[in-house]
Amino acid sequence: MTDRPEMTRIDTAEHEEVWRIADAAAGLTGFIAVHSTLLGPAAGGLRMRRYADEAEALEDALRLSRGMTFKNAAAGLPLGGGKAVILGDPAAKTEAQLRAFGRAIDALGGRYHTAEDMGMSPDDMAVIRTETAHVAGLPDGAFASGDPSPVTARGIFQSIRTVARHRFGSPDLTGRRVALQGLGHVGWDLAKRLKAAGADLTVADMDPARAAQAAASFGADVAAPDAILGVEADILAPCAIGGILNAETIPALRVAAVCGGANNQLATAEDGAALHRRGILYAPDYVVNAGGIVNVATEILRIADRRAFVAEKLATLDATLDAILSEAARRVAGPETVADGIVAERMRRPRAA
Ligand code: NAD
Repeated sequence: MTDRPEMTRIDTAEHEEVWRIADAAAGLTGFIAVHSTLLGPAAGGLRMRRYADEAEALEDALRLSRGMTFKNAAAGLPLGGGKAVILGDPAAKTEAQLRAFGRAIDALGGRYHTAEDMGMSPDDMAVIRTETAHVAGLPDGAFASGDPSPVTARGIFQSIRTVARHRFGSPDLTGRRVALQGLGHVGWDLAKRLKAAGADLTVADMDPARAAQAAASFGADVAAPDAILGVEADILAPCAIGGILNAETIPALRVAAVCGGANNQLATAEDGAALHRRGILYAPDYVVNAGGIVNVATEILRIADRRAFVAEKLATLDATLDAILSEAARRVAGPETVADGIVAERMRRPRAA
């Protein structure tokens, strides 16, 4: 089967191009959203989830691809923002679905590069590679960068230390309690690093076995998934889904700061202001979770010395977060407004810079 799946263009106000991808024979429905190629080819992962319906999946792709534009610009990468989603249970994904999706990516001629996100693994990327070269996060081959999650977790861990320095006066995490939502690729690695740094953990995951495993491995307290956002802790680290900081959850938070890996944590811009009013320091998600795309970028940009590139970009990420938090304190403003301003400035002087 080598036919291109059915690709239907969807007009939106803000995105450069958005496509609905469907292949009945492969049992595939999904979307590719290219938000911006102003700074370079759009890059962002492929997510597979059991969305309620197509509208929810499209909305996710639109929001996430916009987030990638911001993330890549904030990280100083010569990449634009894009994202792709497939509707369905990741546990039931098939080679036919991935290959059909790979052909759709290929049809975009390099304007969008994919990699793994929730529900995807390096091995899945290897399947997509059989249909297109515009895929990264591969397990092997020239410039292969593998699973980006450990680098994402590394970036979040260093950001939590920086947040602690700004909020509590010291980056030392000994005896600090972190409430961690989601123990997947990113959350588990982060939990390991936090534990090694002397932090106490309260964790939650939809999968009770995963949470029990964290209790055994890290001596973590376990909270129910619907209770973790109300747990008393120093720092909340959201590492599962987006939109969790909203009008319902923010009044119930009992933490001094939020710093985690999940994309699009703020449900709306107003929610950033609400956190600020409550005196909760918010580390902008797209700044602190850029480690993964930095790792993926080494593959897309064909960087020879991956370790050096990642180390340099993670150091830059930390310096950027430090500057954002300092500027936010000076302005008495939410850090996300400062971060958005930095991105807007970088987008005003693209490429030539
Ligand atoms: P994953 O699929 O490996 O893990 C997600 C985990 O969260 C799973 O264990 C799942 O059971 C759990 N979960 C889902 N909903 C939950 C809920 N309501 N409450 C508690 N637990 C819940 O995904 P991941 O790769 O670890 O990514 C986690 C988040 O970080 C996502 O938002 C992703 O977009 C973001 N992110 C990931 C990377 C990366 O490198 N993997 C990079 C940047 C951002």
